[in-house]
Amino acid sequence: MLLEVRDLHVEFRTRDGIARAVNGVSYRVDAGETLAVLGESGSGKSVTAQAVMGILDVPPGRITGGQVLFRGQDLLTLKEEERRRIRGAAMAMIFQDALSALNPVLTVGDQLGEMFVVHRGMSRRDARARAVELMERVRIPAAAQRVRDYPHQFSGGMRQRIMIAMALALEPALIIADEPTTALDVTVQAQVMDLLAELQREYRMGLVLITHDLGVVADVADRIAVMYAGRIVETAPVHDLYKAPAHPYTRGLIDSIPRLDRKGRELYAIKGLPPNLMDIPPGCAFHPRCPLARDVCLTDVPPLHEVSADRRSACHFWRECLDGRS
Ligand code: SF4
Ligand code: MG
Repeated sequence: MLLEVRDLHVEFRTRDGIARAVNGVSYRVDAGETLAVLGESGSGKSVTAQAVMGILDVPPGRITGGQVLFRGQDLLTLKEEERRRIRGAAMAMIFQDALSALNPVLTVGDQLGEMFVVHRGMSRRDARARAVELMERVRIPAAAQRVRDYPHQFSGGMRQRIMIAMALALEPALIIADEPTTALDVTVQAQVMDLLAELQREYRMGLVLITHDLGVVADVADRIAVMYAGRIVETAPVHDLYKAPAHPYTRGLIDSIPRLDRKGRELYAIKGLPPNLMDIPPGCAFHPRCPLARDVCLTDVPPLHEVSADRRSACHFWRECLDGRS
């Protein structure tokens, strides 16, 4: 097992109270596997990733429980320095906004090269050559010239490729990509996602792909974990989940994807808003928005039921949902 998050809890102290951002999240990613973590903004998917990477804003953020096992070692118990060493080489992160993640005053060649100078002890000259190779690897045209350009001289899609190159530089075992294509045009999104998927396969990396867009992950993920109000509400192999969701929230997400065969029909939208994390509804947090909710949902937190060997659903009525009776 490459990465295993166990019962992770994260809260944020704010002026108005405690926001419970992550409330007992567990997931696993193997080498060569892509896990999509899906959820609306505020569902806790990014905060979980930040806790895994050790880049949570502390304070106000605080990990109040759980474990983050990387190759069996709990990262939460390591000293910051040991942590940084693992983060630099074995785990890498790709962010939504390359422009703010890249250094604006350094050429991309210098930034890419820096990885090899710092972590591999290479000479500037060799590092530069590796930077060009990497840029070619992520298919940046005229890489040998463009290596001297600054981040703002690239298009959004090309910048995102550069960030992928940065993440890949040290051939990490795990990459966490947080909304890597959200800021891009739809056609560019698909190209960048295809590239990421291709590199993931080639390098046999574990990939955690964080997104709010179910449409983006269908072709690239092996499994999906759906998050709501800081919990995982459903986890399943991607095709099973699409074919027959076992949680009403997932069903709502699937029904709200625009589809050609439903053209002309009004698009479904899940009613209501995501919960306030300072005041999460009791029982099932989704109950105010759920078309299937009954009395028990208002009082009893649904455990993660075993739907099948590799599927779980945190819904009291997962069977009905699976049967499509919702
Ligand atoms: Fe809906 Fe109840 Fe299932 Fe929650 S537990 S998703 S409220 S049916
Ligand atoms: Mg986010």
